[in-house]
Amino acid sequence: MHIGAIEAGGTKFICGIGNEQGIIEDRVSFPTENPELTMSKVIAYFKDKQVEAIGIGSFGPLNIDPFSPYYGWITTTPKPGWTNFPFLDTLKSEFDVPFEWDTDVNAAAYGEATWGAARGLDSCVYYTVGTGIGVGVYSEGRLVHGLVHPEGGHVLTRRHPEDEYAGKCPYHSDCLEGMAAGPALEERWGKKGSEIPAYHPAWEIEAFYIGQAVSSVILLLSPKKVILGGGVMHQEQLFPSIRKEVLKNLNGYVQADEILANIETYIVPPGLGENAGLAGALALGIKALQNRP
Ligand code: ADP
Ligand code: ZN
Repeated sequence: MHIGAIEAGGTKFICGIGNEQGIIEDRVSFPTENPELTMSKVIAYFKDKQVEAIGIGSFGPLNIDPFSPYYGWITTTPKPGWTNFPFLDTLKSEFDVPFEWDTDVNAAAYGEATWGAARGLDSCVYYTVGTGIGVGVYSEGRLVHGLVHPEGGHVLTRRHPEDEYAGKCPYHSDCLEGMAAGPALEERWGKKGSEIPAYHPAWEIEAFYIGQAVSSVILLLSPKKVILGGGVMHQEQLFPSIRKEVLKNLNGYVQADEILANIETYIVPPGLGENAGLAGALALGIKALQNRP
């Protein structure tokens, strides 16, 4: 069985084909350009692949309310050309197969719950810390959408006492994303995150912000696993520091062995590694097939 998967990112698109076991059999990647150019590459890739369904995890903000006339649209993104772009309709007019469409981070959370670090659990939260910060929520065995969709990258944070950086979010300045996404790291320290050495004070401050967000999400949603992915989380030394921050913030209040005794297996990198996004889209494609009337 061939199922199509699209990881639609603001920087690059990855399209692939996989099977019901989560094995990705083929993939291509190309930079995200204007919608016409980008979608023509997506369509060309799937044209001769005979997929039975397509799952999409996309950058946003996007409309995932199936009762809205704008369902399947990218909505208020500042990304040139993509504002109010009918992503899903563009593909539906080319391929007569079931589709499932969700945020990139919800897709990743779903992939991790299906085949990755949260396999067998009925809840997890997936953070990506990259060009932006996004949060995918899987709870009671289903993806959470709510009114629009969770936007946990823009929660407000308490400032690190030694951090005088103004923040980079155009809406909120010093929200979580404004303080801790890759571009904030780069502007604050004057070099790319990948070039900041592991012993640099940048990482203590970074862990301080991410640790706050993770503590809050534990209190708010009580997920059975917290998965931290994205480019910035390639800095592996962040994991022990974030776990320490979380334990400090919670201060013994949440009485669960998963947190108090086994936090190393509770706050973890994606089990699917760099495949989390595409595998998540594949899992959505399988769901589309199962949900077909
Ligand atoms: P995107 O969020 O655009 O999908 P990524 O998850 O790869 O892509 O995130 C890109 C961001 O992560 C950039 O701001 C980049 O500087 C930062 N980044 C990538 N690799 C590293 C690294 N090894 N250490 C710290 N930051 C990194
Ligand atoms: Zn913000």
